[in-house]
Amino acid sequence: MTASSAPNSAAAAGQISYKDTLNLLQTPFSMRANAKQREPEIQAFWAEQRLYERLSQGNHGEAFTLHDGPPYANGALHVGHALNKILKDIINKTALLQGKRARFVPGWDCHGLPIELKVLQGLSSAERAELTPLSLRRKAHAYALEQVEGQKAGFRRWGIWADWDQPYLTLQKRYEAAQIGVFGAMVLAGHIYRGLKPVHWSPSSRTALAEAELEYPDGHTSPSVYAAFPVVALPDALAAALASAGLNPEQATAAGGLAVAIWTTTPWTLPANLAVSVNGRLNYAICAVAAAGEGPAPAISHLVVAEELREGLETSLGLSLTPLLSVKGEALEGIHYRHPLLERTSPVVIGGDYITTEAGTGLVHTAPGHGVDDFNTGRKYNLPVLCPVDEAGTLTAEAGPFAGTNVLKDANPAILSALEATGLLLKQEPYAHRYPYDWRTKKPTIFRATEQWFASVEGFRQAALEAIAAVEWLPASGRNRIEAMVSERGDWCISRQRTWGVPIPVFYHRDTGEVLLNAATLEHIQGLIAEHGGDVWWERDEAGLLPEPYAADAAQWRKGTDTMDVWFDSGSSWAGVLGGIAGSESRAPELHYPADLYLEGSDQHRGWFQSSLLTSVAVNGKAPYKRVLTHGFTLDEKGRKMSKSLGNVVDPAVLVEGGKNEKQEPAYGADVLRLWVSSVDYSADVPLGPGIVKQLADVYRKVRNTARYLLGNLHDFVPERDAVPYNDLPLLDQWMLQRTAALIDAVGGDFERFEFYRFFQALQNFCVVDLSNVYLDIAKDRLYVSGAAEFRRRSCQTVLSLVVERLAGLIAPVLCHMAEDIWQNLPYPVAEASVFERGWPSAPEPWRQPQLEAPMERIAALRALVNRQLESCRSGGQLGASLEACVQLEFSAAEASNATRDALAWLEGSAHPSVDNLADWLLVSQLQLGGSAPAAVLAEANEEGITVRIAKADGQKCERCWHYETDIGQHSSHPTLCGRCVAVLG
Ligand SMILES: [Zn+2]
Repeated sequence: MTASSAPNSAAAAGQISYKDTLNLLQTPFSMRANAKQREPEIQAFWAEQRLYERLSQGNHGEAFTLHDGPPYANGALHVGHALNKILKDIINKTALLQGKRARFVPGWDCHGLPIELKVLQGLSSAERAELTPLSLRRKAHAYALEQVEGQKAGFRRWGIWADWDQPYLTLQKRYEAAQIGVFGAMVLAGHIYRGLKPVHWSPSSRTALAEAELEYPDGHTSPSVYAAFPVVALPDALAAALASAGLNPEQATAAGGLAVAIWTTTPWTLPANLAVSVNGRLNYAICAVAAAGEGPAPAISHLVVAEELREGLETSLGLSLTPLLSVKGEALEGIHYRHPLLERTSPVVIGGDYITTEAGTGLVHTAPGHGVDDFNTGRKYNLPVLCPVDEAGTLTAEAGPFAGTNVLKDANPAILSALEATGLLLKQEPYAHRYPYDWRTKKPTIFRATEQWFASVEGFRQAALEAIAAVEWLPASGRNRIEAMVSERGDWCISRQRTWGVPIPVFYHRDTGEVLLNAATLEHIQGLIAEHGGDVWWERDEAGLLPEPYAADAAQWRKGTDTMDVWFDSGSSWAGVLGGIAGSESRAPELHYPADLYLEGSDQHRGWFQSSLLTSVAVNGKAPYKRVLTHGFTLDEKGRKMSKSLGNVVDPAVLVEGGKNEKQEPAYGADVLRLWVSSVDYSADVPLGPGIVKQLADVYRKVRNTARYLLGNLHDFVPERDAVPYNDLPLLDQWMLQRTAALIDAVGGDFERFEFYRFFQALQNFCVVDLSNVYLDIAKDRLYVSGAAEFRRRSCQTVLSLVVERLAGLIAPVLCHMAEDIWQNLPYPVAEASVFERGWPSAPEPWRQPQLEAPMERIAALRALVNRQLESCRSGGQLGASLEACVQLEFSAAEASNATRDALAWLEGSAHPSVDNLADWLLVSQLQLGGSAPAAVLAEANEEGITVRIAKADGQKCERCWHYETDIGQHSSHPTLCGRCVAVLG
């Protein structure tokens, strides 16, 4: 049968189609989000309305500063970016809705090695050869700006509101100038000094290298050396323990007595040895030494080695090591030993957990000038940073008899033969291991202490700890983390031997090496950078950089070539963006210092939270933030890190815009991504994967369909004309508004505490339970069947309009596009063009009637009981729709039954029986309270003193409302309708 020939039964019979007389849903608000198209349209509407600008600058409330931590300007956005920026946006949008001036200036971290390397990698070797610092900087600048634009487009697509056209970039002139201001203030306060620190050094290219410039070729072999350092003094407790174990302390400290055994693969560092480090928690054995087999007699009688390594060492050293005494490493602290090659003694000290029993002896030869662990341990014990090696790798006079030998050539053999001559060389053999080479010259590198610039944390540690105590840390455990780190951290090395960064504005005297760095030079350079940017340091010679009177003697001075650690860049943002330092203005009047909130991943206790704190405390004596909120990291659904090799990476761009095959990877839209952010307890690490996305998409659809239902039933509603005053509303409607008020109150608290996942749960509960399962379920008859202007329909529409407007407001911080879409589809005029102009939803005080909850709960329980019986009749085929049923209820004296009876009395007392009646609420055609049981009972149940009996309703089914009524057929014009429907049509 074709459509044209299909007879419409009603039309064919010349009758009315009663379906057309119902008040059906009408709304352009679509069931499907069509996010790929609709979200950008909504964003265009916001832009055209200048909504963010108007609200963030024109709101009447207080200014609110959430200061953005700058992501690094390199690479594609990942879900970690989404978690961070969307959380910030939820907080900012909430603040804007609450009438605050929440201005958000986004930032990017633009300097540093990764970008420098990206640029270098993109160059041919010919181009690289011609590269100057300035041309490299210009390429890096262009690359960073390009990356910023790419990331910015992604952030905007997620619906994030910010000053996108005026972001802060750490490469901007004014930012760099403010950073120089921070550095200068620290210099003048005495917090900056120059000192030695070991760095990767390439003797072949005579320069320091960064990690990324190292390579580890196969086949590197070092000389592996075991040596004995003779003990000359023992701490008292250890001396006593040795004595009771049978080793006389005088004998132990005499020549040929006790020695500590060390192992090294860099014998050339032995002249720089200043300590032997042990792990305080490991066990060490003090052993009697004897030759094994036919070996020569050892030059010492006793040796200290890690207990766990003793047996292995017997084999490898060819000695028998008989344990005499076992002690913890901490008991060895305070031993003094004689350097085997030079005339000096040094201590045994406690190193750290870097000392293991994986190789060697468990006692580590420590040369603070030639290793990072050594350096750090040396600082704890105030050891000098001895570095008897020059730029070319040649040992200096400080290396005594080895001066003039080179670490890559003859130093090792010379030192080994000298050691052998002392009899203290226990063993030597070639040792293959991973070793860093210079990526350009392909020659081995060394660790070498060089002059670096430091911020002396010691100088303001106490002030930093006090500042930490004055900040509110969320979660509170964040405070312990940063406190521990700041308590323990050594001085901050802020200089880098790189080109792409902010210059350390210092001059050195060409002859004496004297440093020129004072208020006059700092102020002058700051002014030059404010005007020309950091490039000026490379563009001009000393004469062009020095102020008077120094400029006249410019030839004496050499400008420094170091740049600042990028953590100093981003750690100065409170000055560069919030105007937290004299002479620099905040980027916008709404931004203030200290900021109200910093919000980043929990790794930033080590990073940006800390660098910002240190610079701010050093300059101003206070933290740059009042509150710090942290979030965890994004994992897959099984709690694993996302990685390409595992194939478990969720790409936010694909989630939002869809993949190549949209059947497999649909475009869920930014709101689903945002809903995910709101759904997770981000105080810990958070999962994301395809299963979670599907669940979120379901929740999104539920909320959307609920909103669509509310909108669709309001198409003929004109609030001024049709709205029913609150006091005239039926009980059911007042209950719905009480639930709405409770939701508003709860969500307000959730947002205040940044517990968005509670909002996520409350929202679902409200849409699914309160609205769909209860209120709207009961309201169908009121909305569809009643006359359009009848009280029972208008009162319901009143509630729907009050609820939908507030629902839009409550979801606006998270589901911002959907909220705006709802607002644009309100079928009646409202004063505000955007949901964001309406402000945070509120509930009038009379809505709060918590006493309505208890009777409603009883009736809801009764509905559930009745529904179970109806369901059993339906599944038994005895009944179709619930409207075919008649329900009889009987109550005993049981407690639950009494409470339900009270609830029914409450309902009975309503002034609006056309709405507040139990038969309608149970969705049945007839209800009988007490009396005799129906003739033919289809189902019967008794629970908690309530007896429910189900029978067929009397009468026939009305063709229009589907109720079973006994008055059908009495109206000749509409013989198939009930009296109520006839009245509606009349
Ligand atoms: Zn009817």
